Amino acid sequence: MTDIPLKCTCGEVKGIARSISPRTARRVICYCQDCQDFARKLDRADDILNAFGGTDIIQITPSQVEITHGKDRLRYLKLSEKGIYRWYTDCCKTPAGNMIGPKFPFLGIVHNFIAQNDAPNDIRGKILGPVRYSIMEKDIIKPLVTPPPEMPRAEHSADKFPLGLMIKIFTRLFLDTLSGKNKPNAYFKPDGTPISE
Ligand SMILES: [Zn+2]
Ligand SMILES: [Zn+2]
Repeated sequence: MTDIPLKCTCGEVKGIARSISPRTARRVICYCQDCQDFARKLDRADDILNAFGGTDIIQITPSQVEITHGKDRLRYLKLSEKGIYRWYTDCCKTPAGNMIGPKFPFLGIVHNFIAQNDAPNDIRGKILGPVRYSIMEKDIIKPLVTPPPEMPRAEHSADKFPLGLMIKIFTRLFLDTLSGKNKPNAYFKPDGTPISE
């Protein structure tokens, strides 16, 4: 179990993700259109997305994250009414956490918010090992550079959202809900409203 420092690009927002291990965190690359749109809305597609339009995310629970500095800089957007809460920092438009909602013990941390994520000293690689799932590959974009870089490898790859991963996430959601891992929650007030408008 390791604690991972979190930091937006400019450094105004800082936090910590606690007790990270392959058992408590899952590393996923998501190629879905929504993740791509989010990166473009923040005007940071260049450094959020890989050459194929993928977003490198670790899936953990809200109870693992504490925001220690600049909490008032957190904002969120939803790409559709029923869409997930996509948090980002107002200061430098760094993604700061994807969440289904206040009641769900699910939090996706995009790689840009992890302080030591640069290759070859990639803190996630050291703690979590290789990427476990590469999902929504139907939305992959063709790299503009030639020759194209090598596609990042994952233990499991899928065109859509694979059923196996869905079952794993829902089982975890169920167990983590029972044990209250949606709390404490740095992104929502106790009454379930987001901390920012
Ligand atoms: Zn910032
Ligand atoms: Zn996605």
